[in-house]
Amino acid sequence: MADCLFCKIIDKKIPATVVHDDDRVIAFRDINPQAPTHVLVVPRKHVATLNDVTAEDHALVGHMVTTAAAIARAEGHADSGWRAVWNVNAGAGQTVFHIHLHLLGGRLLGWPPG
Ligand code: AMP
Ligand code: ZN
Repeated sequence: MADCLFCKIIDKKIPATVVHDDDRVIAFRDINPQAPTHVLVVPRKHVATLNDVTAEDHALVGHMVTTAAAIARAEGHADSGWRAVWNVNAGAGQTVFHIHLHLLGGRLLGWPPG
């Protein structure tokens, strides 16, 4: 999608610190990290919000989750703990309308979230 920030990162029109890249997803460090590890796992397919995920995306969303878990393990957070966050629409803080899983780790994460 032409005007989408994450599509531009996927197309390498905007630089990012990429930690994982395959045929279905890309993962890169958040530009404004909220934890020592803050990685965004993003599908190559443009889907605006989790509200728009359909049955044909189930395997893709599963791949996003297993990719996040692998990165969390590689960065040393599998046992100590890490968090997956999906913000959906403006009221939950979504600012980029191309779905992404936030992987947060490396500090104590409070609950409930703000
Ligand atoms: P959300 O608010 O859930 O839509 O998350 C969007 C995230 O994208 C925020 O955490 C931003 O800090 C992050 N972000 C915005 N621009 C960039 C960029 N150019 N590279 C990496 N992360 C970005
Ligand atoms: Zn996009």
